[in-house]
Amino acid sequence: MSGCIHNLDDMWINNIKEQQISTSVLVIGTGGAGLRAAIELAEIGMDVLAVGKRPRHDAHTSLAAGGINASLRTMDENDSWQQHAADTIKESYYLADPTTVEIVAKGAAQGIADLERYGMEFAREDDGRISQRFFGAHTFRRTAFAGDYTGLEIQRSLVRRSQQLDISILDTIYVTDILTHDNRVFGAYGFDIGNGTKYLIHADAVILAAGGHNRFWRRTSSRRDENTGDSFRLAVEAGARLRDPELVQFHPSGTIEPEDAAGTLISEAARGEGGILRNALGERFMERYDPERMELSTRDRVALAAYTEIQQGRGTPNGGVWLDLSHLRREIILERLPRVYQTMLEVQMLDVTREPIEIAPTAHYSMGGVWVRPEDHSTEVEGLFAIGEASSGLHGANRLGGNSLIELLVFGRIVGQAAAEYSSHLSEQIRSEAAVASARQVINRLLASHGTENVRTLQRAIRDMMTENAGVVRNETGLKEGLARLDKIEERMSNIGIHPDIAGFQDLAHAYDLKSSALSARATLEAALERRETRGCHNRSDFPETDAGMQVNLVWSLENGITHEPVESVPPEIDKLIREVSLEGKLVE
Ligand SMILES: Cc1cc2nc3c(=O)[nH]c(=O)nc-3n(C[C@H](O)[C@H](O)[C@H](O)COP(=O)(O)OP(=O)(O)OC[C@H]3O[C@@H](n4cnc5c(N)ncnc54)[C@H](O)[C@@H]3O)c2cc1C
Repeated sequence: MSGCIHNLDDMWINNIKEQQISTSVLVIGTGGAGLRAAIELAEIGMDVLAVGKRPRHDAHTSLAAGGINASLRTMDENDSWQQHAADTIKESYYLADPTTVEIVAKGAAQGIADLERYGMEFAREDDGRISQRFFGAHTFRRTAFAGDYTGLEIQRSLVRRSQQLDISILDTIYVTDILTHDNRVFGAYGFDIGNGTKYLIHADAVILAAGGHNRFWRRTSSRRDENTGDSFRLAVEAGARLRDPELVQFHPSGTIEPEDAAGTLISEAARGEGGILRNALGERFMERYDPERMELSTRDRVALAAYTEIQQGRGTPNGGVWLDLSHLRREIILERLPRVYQTMLEVQMLDVTREPIEIAPTAHYSMGGVWVRPEDHSTEVEGLFAIGEASSGLHGANRLGGNSLIELLVFGRIVGQAAAEYSSHLSEQIRSEAAVASARQVINRLLASHGTENVRTLQRAIRDMMTENAGVVRNETGLKEGLARLDKIEERMSNIGIHPDIAGFQDLAHAYDLKSSALSARATLEAALERRETRGCHNRSDFPETDAGMQVNLVWSLENGITHEPVESVPPEIDKLIREVSLEGKLVE
C-alpha cells in the first residue's frame, strides 16, 4: 500500500518542472546586505537578480532595533572614523581585521547618506541634524536610529529603492547549491518553496548574503527557519572557507516560552530603564558579578552571570532568571519600552507592568562567517563574494552594537561594484553539466526520501546538543561530546522522510536547513574546541584566560579542517586611540 503511494509520489516528483534563467550577477539573500548590493548593481546598469527564501520585507534585518553607526559628528564633533575603528578593534578583542574595520569606519558616512538618498526617516534633532546616541563601548555618540525599529526602516527604504530601480527579486527561491566549475562560479541551483519548481540560474558572479548561523541553539533571537547556516554550507560546498565560526554572540535577555518563540529578544533598554535581574531565590544576583554596574554591566558579563546562576541551580523551573520591570511606572514602560510591552503580551499574554519576565541568554549574532578578502569581500572561489552576517572580518570576538547594520550598507556598495567589475571583465565562462546534475539529483533524492526520521526532530536534536555542549560556557569534554552527538544526528539524517504537499515544499526547505545547520554546527564545535582560551564571547571553563598565542583567526574548511591565520597588526594611528571606554548609562543592543 505505502509502496504504491510512494510510486505515485515519485512520478509526481519527476514531473516537477525546471526553470532556467540567466543574469549577470545573482544575489542570494534579500536582507539589508543583499538588497544594498543589488541596488548598487542596478544603479551601475548591471543585470542583477536577487532571491530569498522569505519575503523581502520580512528579512531578518527588519528585526534590528537599536541603530546604525557612523562617525557623522552630529552630536560629538571630536569623533572620527579613526576612533570608530579603534572602538571596533578594542571590542573585537583584537580579532577583527584592521583593513575591514578601516573600510567600514571610513565608508560609514556614505552608507548613511545612501539611506537618506533612498528616503530613510532617521530620528533628528530640532535643527534637522541626524540624532546619534550612545551605544555600547563607543567613545562618542555615533549610533543613528529610527525609533526602536531602525532595521525595519532600513529594510523598507531598500525595498522601496529596489522597486524604483525595477530590480528582479524572487521571494520564494531556496538556493540549495552554488554551481562551480574548476573553482569558478557559474550560477546557483534551487527550488521554489511554493510549488517546487526547480531553478537553474546561470550567473557570471554570485553574491552570498544569506545571513548567519545562530538559529541552532535552543534559544535564539532569530525566528524559525532563518539563520540556519545556509551561507556557511553553500560557501563551503562551493570550495570557500569559514573564519571563526565558534564566535557567536549571546544576548543576555531572550524569552523562554513559548517554545517556538524561545529566545525572542527583550531589548537591553529594559535593563537600561531600571529593570532588575533576580534568580529563583529572589536574589539580585548581579551584586555577585558586577556590584558597581549591576544590571548595566556589559552584555557578555550579564549573559555569563545569568548562565552561571542557572547552571548552579538558582534558576527558575524553566531554566531562566527573572527580569522585573513591575516596580517601574506603567507610563514609563508604555512610553519607553513599547516593544517589550507589546512583544510579551503577544507571545505570552504577560503584562510586564505587573509581572516579571522569565529570560535566559539567547544566541544572537554570528561574528564569524565566510572567509573573505577585506578589500572587496571576494572569496577564494572565483566570482563568489560574501557580505553581511554571512561574512567575517569586522567583529572578531565581540560585535560593537550598531556595527552590523552599517557593515551591510558599506560592503553592499563595495561588493556590488566588485561583482559588476568582475562580470564586465569575464572573457569566458565554462559551465559544468555534472555540477547541475548533482544539484538536481540531491533535490530529487530528498523528495523521494520516505525514511522514518522527522526533520524538525533532528533540527531540535542539533539545537539541544549545541545548547548543552557549545553554549555560553564551553569545555573540552562538552565539545567532544557535542561532536559525538552530531555524528549520531548525521547518521539519522540519512533516514529522513520528506513530505511536500499541495501547501508547498517547506519540508524540503527544512531538510536543506538541517543539512546547513549540521555542517555549521560541526565547524562551530571544531573551532570552539581548537580555541583553547577565553576571549570575548567565547568562554572556556577549562581555559579561563585569554591566550596571546591565540590572537589568530581560526579558518575552517571541509578539506583541511582548521588552520590558524595571523591577524594583521593595528596601524599606529588607530592603535593610539584604543582605550577603555566607560559603559555607564549606555546600552549594547
Ligand atoms: C532583535 C535584533 C536586533 C538587532 N539590532 C541590531 C542593531 O540595533 N544594530 C545592528 O547593527 N544590528 C542589529 N542586529 C543584527 C542585524 O539585524 C543583522 O546582523 C543583519 O540585519 C543581517 O543582515 P543580512 O542582510 O546579512 O542578513 P539577513 O537580514 O538575515 O538576510 C538574509 C537573507 O538571506 C535569505 N536566505 C537565507 N538562506 C537562503 C537560501 N538558502 N536561499 C535563498 N535565500 C536565503 C533570507 O531569506 C534573507 O533574505 C539585530 C538583530 C536582531 C535579531
